[in-house]
Amino acid sequence: MRRDRATSQHAGLGAIPMSDKKKVPCNSCGTLIPPLDHERLGGQCRLCKSGQRTNHDPKISCKIKFSHSNLSNRFDVTFAVRAKHFLEVMRGVTGINKANTCELEAQRALIKHAVSFRIDFEINDDHWGRTGQALLKEFEKGNAWIEEEDGKQIRFSELQRHEWVDTHLNLGGFEYRKLDGSLYLKMDTMHFD
Ligand SMILES: [Zn+2]
Repeated sequence: MRRDRATSQHAGLGAIPMSDKKKVPCNSCGTLIPPLDHERLGGQCRLCKSGQRTNHDPKISCKIKFSHSNLSNRFDVTFAVRAKHFLEVMRGVTGINKANTCELEAQRALIKHAVSFRIDFEINDDHWGRTGQALLKEFEKGNAWIEEEDGKQIRFSELQRHEWVDTHLNLGGFEYRKLDGSLYLKMDTMHFD
């Protein structure tokens, strides 16, 4: 019997360093996990066992702030995109100052985490809204979609984009309308003094 096997019998005492415990691969994804977990979870890691691990390119979702006709009524809209694609997109997004550059680096790390662990992941927009802007651009290219609260997906092909200006409020921005002309989303992006 090998020495590490003999010592692992005393693992319950907590005196054995982690490196001495032989990890075994998850039967589904190959991630190395402690033998005890392997046994308890029927040969799978926690993420596979709980169904959180996807078999496809995982999904990144992010809430973007919108305002609807009445500008005091702001609300979040969830946009989603495939993680691998969005990682490539975000590689090309640069920060507008040092803090934002660091923040975008953290965003890329989170997306990379989702890609390498194959888990769907929700990220927050960064404080300068660069992530949200990149996601909106992908939405308008047809690469991302809106997820409504009931789970329905809305694609840009179902909408029309118009620019708007309100001279009374000194505001401008863009809006998405359904093909029948009804207002779907409205955002103010400019403030005129
Ligand atoms: Zn697994």
